[in-house]
Amino acid sequence: MNAAIDLIRRQVSDLHRELVRYRLVVWTAGNVSARVPGEDLLVIKPSGVPYQELSPGNMIVCDLDGNVVEGDHAPSSDTAAHAYVYSHLPEVGGVVHTHSSYAGAWAARGEAVPCVLTAMADEFGAEIPVGPFALIGDDSIGRGIVDTLRGHRSPAVLMRNHGVFTIGADAEAAVKAAVMCEDVARTVHLARQLGEPLPIAQADIDSLNHRYRNAYGQSRAR
Ligand SMILES: [Zn+2]
Repeated sequence: MNAAIDLIRRQVSDLHRELVRYRLVVWTAGNVSARVPGEDLLVIKPSGVPYQELSPGNMIVCDLDGNVVEGDHAPSSDTAAHAYVYSHLPEVGGVVHTHSSYAGAWAARGEAVPCVLTAMADEFGAEIPVGPFALIGDDSIGRGIVDTLRGHRSPAVLMRNHGVFTIGADAEAAVKAAVMCEDVARTVHLARQLGEPLPIAQADIDSLNHRYRNAYGQSRAR
């Protein structure tokens, strides 16, 4: 079991670098977590530690109630939300949270990003929905994520007035969804400045999403 945890520690530590590389985070905001396969455990970054100081060794292992099992620091302040998602969505193996700019701008207006790009139909299969306003401190953020994404094709939710949470079969898939979410939020925002984006017929969205999930790439796409 320790070998499995060590592998996840390294993956989660490495994936935090992708949030920086794709400019989805500033200062210490944002976080990636992963479920330890076969265990009721998750690995997440420590709270308040700069991105350049993150390493496999300072990742925090928590149970699915958000209690620390291994680690010298306090876990990310969003740990309860991540833990709630793993507890309630057993198919989820990774969760990401960012305050990325364009997605955050849609969240600030409480407006879903409409599915008006084929790449969006591929990855999200629908609009990117808005979740409720929720304060940190109890399970209301986790509940808002689960209530919005359960049964939805989109792996991303814009929590109102807050930012993005994404889910995936593993942490890499959740990071990919966070990167794509910001990309399409930016493009649809730009389109809006010049006029009203053209809708894509639901049947075409369905067909694109089905192909992407089942035929495209190396079958790692969520
Ligand atoms: Zn946040």
